[in-house]
This record gives sequence, structure tokens and C-alpha cells, in this order.
Amino acid sequence: MAKTAETVWINCLKIIKDIVEWQHFKTWFEPIKPVELKESVLMIQVPSQFFFEYLEEHYVNLLAKTLKRELGKEARLEYRIMVDSGNNGRNGSMDIPASTARTYTNNEMDFPLVINNPVKNPFVIPGLKKMQIDPQLNPIYTFDAFIEGDCNRVARRAGKTVAEKPGANSFNPLVIYGGVGLGKTHLAQSIGNEVKRLHPNKVVLYVSSEKFINQFQDHSRNNAINDFIHFYQLIDVLMIDDVQFFARAEKSQDAFFAIFNHLHQSGKQLILTSDKAPKDLDGMQERLLSRFRWGLSADLQLPDYDTRIEILEKKMKNDGLDMPKEVVKYVAYNISTNVRELEGALISLLAQSSLNKREIDLELAKKVLRNFVKTSSKEITIEAIQKMVCEYFDVSYDKLLQKTRKREIVQARQITMYLAKAFTKNSLKTIGEHFGGRDHTTVIHSCQTVKDLMDTDSLFRENVMELTQKVQLAAM
Ligand code: ADP
Ligand code: MG
Repeated sequence: MAKTAETVWINCLKIIKDIVEWQHFKTWFEPIKPVELKESVLMIQVPSQFFFEYLEEHYVNLLAKTLKRELGKEARLEYRIMVDSGNNGRNGSMDIPASTARTYTNNEMDFPLVINNPVKNPFVIPGLKKMQIDPQLNPIYTFDAFIEGDCNRVARRAGKTVAEKPGANSFNPLVIYGGVGLGKTHLAQSIGNEVKRLHPNKVVLYVSSEKFINQFQDHSRNNAINDFIHFYQLIDVLMIDDVQFFARAEKSQDAFFAIFNHLHQSGKQLILTSDKAPKDLDGMQERLLSRFRWGLSADLQLPDYDTRIEILEKKMKNDGLDMPKEVVKYVAYNISTNVRELEGALISLLAQSSLNKREIDLELAKKVLRNFVKTSSKEITIEAIQKMVCEYFDVSYDKLLQKTRKREIVQARQITMYLAKAFTKNSLKTIGEHFGGRDHTTVIHSCQTVKDLMDTDSLFRENVMELTQKVQLAAM
């Protein structure tokens, strides 16, 4: 039987499949289409310039060997590239001028690679892009509201560049990393808002990694992973917040990998945030980490004193507030942990000032800040904390004490124990007794669970932080 492009390619794939890891095979070989066979020259079609270069870099030997096995020593491979938007950010319908067709010669392998004229990108389905995708952006997070300092200059400027020319810059992906409350979410959202402002037709999406993982798991349960991946492939500018949570979600990493590759290959922009530098992300597949290194990783540091003052002044201006400069300085000087706490202190100050119908002055600031460093003056009771938590979660006091296993109630109870431990001087035994006679090990376990959940669940963390503030205020 005469050889055709298809049969030759199928035989090559049989070998490649055994050698290449499954996921790599899916990503880099399945999208390839055999186009034509002329004597010993096989032409294959690849989706992008980037794709071509990747094959060149990583698989040229393998391709050469398998093809020579099929077609003999004279075997040649030619590429047809479907779309080139790898680094110029233009979308798929751009043709590369014929003059850019190049011939590559790999001396060692004696394996010349010819790039053929590209054709139009088949992945752009008209109409599909018009689909309304809510970008999930909060309009308050803008570059303008994000104060620049030494602590964040590189990240902020890179973010601006990315927003101006999404996909068409060398910061793809842009990885923003730094500790809690240093502005990762704010910066990622600013990029989204700015892209929307400058390029209203771009499809923008902000998503937390937790939401991504949940969506993935839902789709996976319903055998709809393809829909999931397709949806994400429609995005022009994708921001994924807190990617460190992927560490425990192996399957979601596979989906993310497929989406990442597709978007990157088509010149789409990716922005990722993480609480650690990529190199310190444990539990993340190496192939993902290596992709993170393709772009730029920029960190956010603690803002210095002057930047903290500027941040406070900006917040006050935005909210139409005023307070004496000495108070601003006092707050900026004393709160140096992170920007979220800085804001928390400002809010507490405002709350106290309006509660007590009293001007914000240094004396009040001292009082409020004392609670931020946890030297509360007034002893708060376990009952008072229970009451606050019940109100906050809208749970009845009885339920809080009962032996129910309902998750919301169990969590509310654990948070109450945690706060009672942190803000009262009661022993673990006494705290346990206040929860229908539980013993001290239950209290220890609850406190540990709360700490763990705060590390992994941002909504939970927000709740605990908010409650902590309420308790602090009550203890004043
Ligand atoms: P992260 O996601 O790193 O935990 P966020 O982006 O949620 O932190 O930031 C916490 C708070 O601090 C937000 O309200 C944000 O607006 C504010 N913030 C952080 N950095 C800055 C900055 N440089 N200028 C102004 N506000 C900032
Ligand atoms: Mg965040």
C-alpha cells in the first residue's frame, strides 16, 4: 500500500506516544495535522509559530528519528504554521508575509525544516467571541489607586505594560508574588480594569484559583471538562489569583496546563499571582513552573514608611476623609505588617471616631492601635464572643453549642473557640466548658483547624479577619 501523509504520521505517532509523557503528547502532538507527503518530505501543520519553535527546541531529534524510520535517510519535515501571534499579540487572522518563511537546517541531524506559508487560524470561530463573559472585576482596583513605591515598582510597571499591550510583551505570563495583604489581588484586578478601558473588545477574566478548581471539579463530575477548557480558551487576558492553591489539585493543574498552553500559543495574556516565588511553590508540576519562568516574576514587598503614608492619604482622599497629619504618621509608623492591616487600622479609627462622636486625634489613634498590637485593655468574655459570632453568621446560640455536624455551624463554633483562645485569658478547659462541655483537646483541634483554613480558604480568612476586628473593637 502506498504511503500517505496520514499513514506516515500515524506510524510516527505510535512511536512518539510511547516515548513522550501523555500530557505532553496531548499538548504537542495531537494538534499536529499531516498535510501532504511528497516523496520523502512530510508536511505537517502546527497551530502557531510558538508551537513550531517549541517542537524545534524539544522534539526535533525525536521527530527526525521517527520520520527517518518511516521514510528513510532522505526524510524531510516541513511545517505549515496556522497562526502567528506568539509574540506580537495580534489575533489569529493575521497572515505572516511570505518573506518570513525561513528554512532551518539542523546540521547535526541533517534535518532541514521548512516553514510553509501560513493559513488563517481555524480556531477563531466568528461570533463566539462576542459571547458576554463577565470579567469579574471590581472597579475600585485601579492603577491610579495603587500607590507606587520601591516595594512594588517593577510589578506595577510590568502590570501597566501588560495592560497596554496584552499578549504583545515579554511579560507573559506575568507572575506577581508576595505575602498576604501586599496588593496582589489589587494589582491583578487593575490590569484587568485597564485592559477593559484601553481595549474594550478584549475578553478579560479574573478568577481565583479556588474558583477555577471548583469549576473544574464540577465540570469533571459532569463529564464536561472539554466545555470547561473551551470556555477558558476564549479569554484574551486571563488573571488567576493565588495559584499556590493549585498545589493540592493535581487534576486542575492538568487543565490549567492545557489552557495555559493554548492561550500562550495564541498570543493571549496570562497574569498569575502567588503568595510565594514560583521556585518555592511546592506541589506544583515542574512543567507548569517552567512555563511561569517564560515571562516575568515580580514581587511585592512591604511598603516603606513614606509609601505607607502615601497609601493612607490616598485612601482618605478616595473616601473623602480627613485626619491630622500627625495621626497619619503615627499609624504609618506603627503598622508595618501589610497594607490590609493599614487599612484595617484606618477603618477602626473611623469606626471609633463616629461611634464616640469624637474627632480623630493622636490619643484616639493610640487607643485604637493598641488593639492592633493585641494589648487589649478591657477583658472580653467568651459569651460576648459567642454572641458576636452568632450574629455574624446568623446562627442561633443553641445551635452553636449543639453537637451538629453541619459544616457552617462546625466552622462558626471553631472560629468562636479560636477567638476565645486569642482574646480571653480563659484556659482551654474553661473555653471547652462554654461549648456544651467539650474537652480541651477539642479546643486545640478547633484552633488548629481555623489556622489551617485561613491559609487555604480566602473567604474563610476574610470572615475570621473581620470577626477579629469586631472583637478587637469590642475589647477597647
Ligand atoms: P493580597 O491579594 O496580596 O493579599 P490585596 O490586593 O487584597 O492583597 O490588598 C490588600 C489591600 O491593600 C487592598 O485593599 C488594596 O487595595 C490595598 N493595597 C495594597 N497595596 C496597595 C498600594 N500599593 N496602594 C494602595 N492600596 C494598596
Ligand atoms: Mg489576594
